[in-house]
Amino acid sequence: MRILPIAPTVKNPPEWFTGDVWLDPVIAPQDEGQRLSAGMVRFSPGARTAWHSHPLGQTLRIMEGTALVQARGGDVVEVYAGQTVYTPPGEEHWHGAAPDSFMTHLALWETPDGGDSAHWGAHVTDDEYDNR
Ligand code: MN
Repeated sequence: MRILPIAPTVKNPPEWFTGDVWLDPVIAPQDEGQRLSAGMVRFSPGARTAWHSHPLGQTLRIMEGTALVQARGGDVVEVYAGQTVYTPPGEEHWHGAAPDSFMTHLALWETPDGGDSAHWGAHVTDDEYDNR
């Protein structure tokens, strides 16, 4: 057993996010064969990811506040603290805070051997974000 050092909070890059989004890393692979990573992600009101997908999928647990999530071709859906959102491998989507609420989610994902954990696309426009 190891108690890991606390990783510094980092601001997520504006290339992939709109608004202020902060990441507290929880875990990255520690030993051979592992793929799991997790992070606690805090979004300011109106902040959101760009469109993206995860080659091995992603699970989000809303910890506080109101989230907005959307899969490509689907509706923008409000999700609340205590709910879990699963995105299957390769599905394009975005996630963020509602316009009037901070939002924190725990994100869990796996990284394929020799690959990236996400493939990033265009920013979510205000029209897309407001389309509820
Ligand atoms: Mn995602």
